[in-house]
Parts: sequence; structure tokens; C-alpha cells
Amino acid sequence: MMRLEEQRALVTGGTRGIGRAIAARLADEGASVWITGTDGGRAETAAAELDGGRSRVRGIELDVRDPGSVKQCFGRVHREGPLHILVNNAGISRDRLLMAQSREDWRLVLSTNLDGLYACCHAAIRPMLKARYGRIVNLSSVVGIHGNAGQAAYAASKAGIIGFTKALGKEVARRKITVNAVAPGLVETDMTSHLTDAARKRFRIPIARAGSPEEVAAAVAFLASPEASYIVGAVLEVTGGLAP
Ligand code: NAD
Repeated sequence: MMRLEEQRALVTGGTRGIGRAIAARLADEGASVWITGTDGGRAETAAAELDGGRSRVRGIELDVRDPGSVKQCFGRVHREGPLHILVNNAGISRDRLLMAQSREDWRLVLSTNLDGLYACCHAAIRPMLKARYGRIVNLSSVVGIHGNAGQAAYAASKAGIIGFTKALGKEVARRKITVNAVAPGLVETDMTSHLTDAARKRFRIPIARAGSPEEVAAAVAFLASPEASYIVGAVLEVTGGLAP
């Protein structure tokens, strides 16, 4: 029997990058997985690609910033059956030195990364409490632990996710729901594709390379599995040793 057989999972923003690798890994381990995109059609296309005829991956529209969209998405998912695993992966960055950071960009980052995560957890938690089982894995970042110049908004959102994870973890642990975070370092995705070689060199990574989305996905899959039953409020760093 595969580790995640008969488990139903939702990965926010699972159409590309780390989220896509997480969805692929959960499906490979036997889970039925919803991936979400802000464009429902694109989410379905990406899901069909990932699925490869196994009938395990489906796409659904979700804008985590829009409460109506969150309600609709989780309503549909819950109508079809219990959700065992929620991976809050959707996130954005708008990197600027603070003096150049507009209030709009600050709000955009916080409302996507933090308000969006709140909204998805809020929508998922009641049925998990009733079912007395759940796994919530939140994507934080090494930047939320150590900070990084030019990333105040992103760092604030990712540090907020760590506090949220620890608090909610304590709130729901008695009902066999675990809430944990994964904090990746530098991972090659669209989010980091704009970084120059000089900027990359500033990250001192002991393992001497960037991480892959699949390496992050392996950590998420573990925390999302029944095996991680005694891990609550943890922040698992997947950084190649990076500690700025
Ligand atoms: P990415 O830009 O490739 O993917 C982000 C995903 O979030 C996309 O699928 C996008 O559609 C989705 N998204 C953005 N806004 C959304 C919204 N309003 N509603 C729903 N979905 C939305 O980025 P990635 O590198 O794959 O990052 C995934 C997660 O990992 C993010 O939370 C990011 O902060 C975190 N992370 C990434 C790195 C890295 O080096 N790439 C490092 C640490 C943490």
C-alpha cells in the first residue's frame, strides 16, 4: 500500500514550480490531488498533464486573495469528500528596498501570502476537526527565519506563516490534525528566475547549489503523511544548509 493511498489533498498554486512538484509527489504516493490556479482552465490543463491518465490529479480555480473564490473552491472539494491534506503553497514576492516599496505591493504580498493562507486554513479546518484527522503544510521560507535585504514584505509574510503554523498547530493537535511548515532556501522556479548570477552568489549555500522543487516536495510529502503524526508546529528547513 502506498503511503498516501485514500488520502485527498489540495495544493494551492500547484500548477507550476514547487507546488507542481508537491502535487506530483503526493499523487505518486497514492493521493487524489486537487491543484489550483487563478485561471480554472489552466489549472485543469496542468492537472491533466500531471495526471498522465491515472485519474488522481484535478484542477480547480482558486484565487486565495478572494474570499468568494476560496468559498467556492473548498465548497466543491468538500462536497466530493473529506480533505485530508492541505498544502498552502501559493505565494508571491515583490522585492524592493523598503524606501522603494509601495503600500500596494506590501498589501499584495501580505494579502496573498498571509491572508490567503488564513482563508484556506479557515475553509479547511472545520471539516478536519469533525473528521478528527488532517495534515496542513505551509510553505514558509528561510527568509522568514533570517530576513533578507530587499525582502521586508516577503519576509514579514513568511515569518507570519511560521507564527500562524505554531499557533494553529497547538489549537488543533488534540484532534489529530498536525500543522507544520517547510522553509525552503533558494529553489529554481519562476519566482527565482529573475535573480542574477551576482545575486545567487550572495546566497552562501554549504551544499553549493540551488535546491530543486522535488527536494522541497519530498519534505512536504513526509509532513503530509500519516507517519508525521507526532510533529506539530515544526519548521522543516530545506535549504542545503543556507543560514544567512
Ligand atoms: P511560483 O511563482 O513558481 O509559484 C507560485 C504559485 O502561487 C503559482 O502557481 C501561482 O499561480 C500561485 N499564486 C500566486 N498568487 C496566487 C493567488 N492569489 N491565488 C492562488 N494562487 C496564487 O513560485 P515557487 O517558487 O514555486 O513558490 C512556491 C511557494 O514556495 C511560495 O509560497 C514561495 O514563497 C515558497 N518559496 C519559494 C522559494 C524559491 O526559492 N522558489 C523559496 C522559499 C519559499
